[in-house]
Order: sequence, then structure tokens, then C-alpha cells
Amino acid sequence: MIVVSDEEATLLADHLQQERENFDEQYLEKGSNGMMLINQIPCHFLSDNKCTVYDFRFAGCREFPALHIPDFKNRLFTIFMHYDRCPIIFNVVEKLKLAMGFETDGSE
Ligand code: SF4
Repeated sequence: MIVVSDEEATLLADHLQQERENFDEQYLEKGSNGMMLINQIPCHFLSDNKCTVYDFRFAGCREFPALHIPDFKNRLFTIFMHYDRCPIIFNVVEKLKLAMGFETDGSE
């Protein structure tokens, strides 16, 4: 799930020239802990395997895979759930495989 701060929502709503209320209604939902989340997977702003709001993407997108946050292994299920949907996740996983010396069948 992509967490969105109040400030990020306002910045992106302004960029999209939308009223904040409309932006929230169209793109956000409240999680059980009260945090704002993007209400759709894959994200609304993903198009043709590209982020259409790249300069305004959220901190969670910028920080992915957030190796500075503990318990990376506990997030792997979610990462692989979205591996084939999100180019950022795909590219990061593929780079991690290379960095870790993950062996392939040599066809790539
Ligand atoms: S980086 Fe991906 S998840 Fe983040 S806003 Fe862009 S399309 Fe959405």
C-alpha cells in the first residue's frame, strides 16, 4: 500500500489542478490506522509502465525498497505480489538479484 502524507496529497492535487477534496475522493482512502493510502493497485498514476507524476511521487515510492527500514524480509510478500505490476518494484528486484549474485540460466 502506498502511504500518502497530507502535504504530498496537496502538492499532487495542485499539480493536477484538482481541488484537494476531489483528489482525496478520487485517489485516496483511509487505512485502518488512519493513514491515507492510494485506493487502487496498481496505482492510478502508473501508465504504460511509467509513473505519470514522477516528480510528485510519494516518499514511499522514492524510498522503495526502503532498506533503511528494518524487517525487509517481512515486506517481501508484498513486493513479489506487485513485482509484475510495478516497474519500480521489478527493476529494484532485478538489480538486487544482480547485486547479490543471484544465478540465472544464462539466457539473460
Ligand atoms: S511511482 Fe508508482 S506507485 Fe508511486 S506514484 Fe508513481 S506510479 Fe504510483
